Amino acid sequence: MGVPTLGCTCAVCTSADPHDRRLRPSALVRWNGPENGGPERVVVIDTGPDFREQALRAGLMRVDAVLYTHAHADHILGMDDLRPLSFAAFRESGPIPLYASPETAEVLRHVYDYTFSPQATYSHRARVQLEPLGDRTRVHGVEFLRVPVLHGEMEIAGFRFGNAAYLTDVSAIPEESFGLLEGLEHLVLSALRHKPHPSHATVEQALGWARRIGSRHTWFTHIAHELGHEETNRTLPDGVRLAYDGQSVPVTL
Ligand SMILES: [Zn+2]
Ligand SMILES: [Zn+2]
Repeated sequence: MGVPTLGCTCAVCTSADPHDRRLRPSALVRWNGPENGGPERVVVIDTGPDFREQALRAGLMRVDAVLYTHAHADHILGMDDLRPLSFAAFRESGPIPLYASPETAEVLRHVYDYTFSPQATYSHRARVQLEPLGDRTRVHGVEFLRVPVLHGEMEIAGFRFGNAAYLTDVSAIPEESFGLLEGLEHLVLSALRHKPHPSHATVEQALGWARRIGSRHTWFTHIAHELGHEETNRTLPDGVRLAYDGQSVPVTL
């Protein structure tokens, strides 16, 4: 829902700590080509309703691909804001590929009918193209592994890239997925609050998985207004912290 949460005056929603202001979750993976002096490459994971604001803050000048975890509103409703970047991408190499599962692609086609319909006539629609999300997606030489996780009843996608992984909206991690999460330096994992929720992990569940996965650093994301940044961080073990908007960590791809 974002923090502050609409209509709420709780301590976290009214906190003066900038870490307590949370836009909807997404991730940006940015690297330079093989020789490091090569062109900048950018993969975005999810384009939520705050995508435009996040892209401005991150100084985003291009997008090479988008990977979608699932099609809930907080993960897809900023897709249309890819438009200006997609016009530039289109001139350079073609439409921006949006990698999505069949279920996610179906919702995207429905929500953005004016973009994806074969009858679409809106001339300034985003230059984007839905592509099937397989087990491995390569973007300019970097491989993104799909890591299946459960979000309530629904199987959704997490991603492993290099020594990092991004798993949001997790309520359970299937046994087979743990094998894809070995040797991590940075794990981004959702932890909503302390009170149980049918489709999101509590802090306690997320801590259990973090311990088992054993990443050097675990960053909690998709955090609700029940968790104050400083106050919660004081209770977390070494190596586990709440992530915050705009946070950046170095990853080896
Ligand atoms: Zn609140
Ligand atoms: Zn979500």
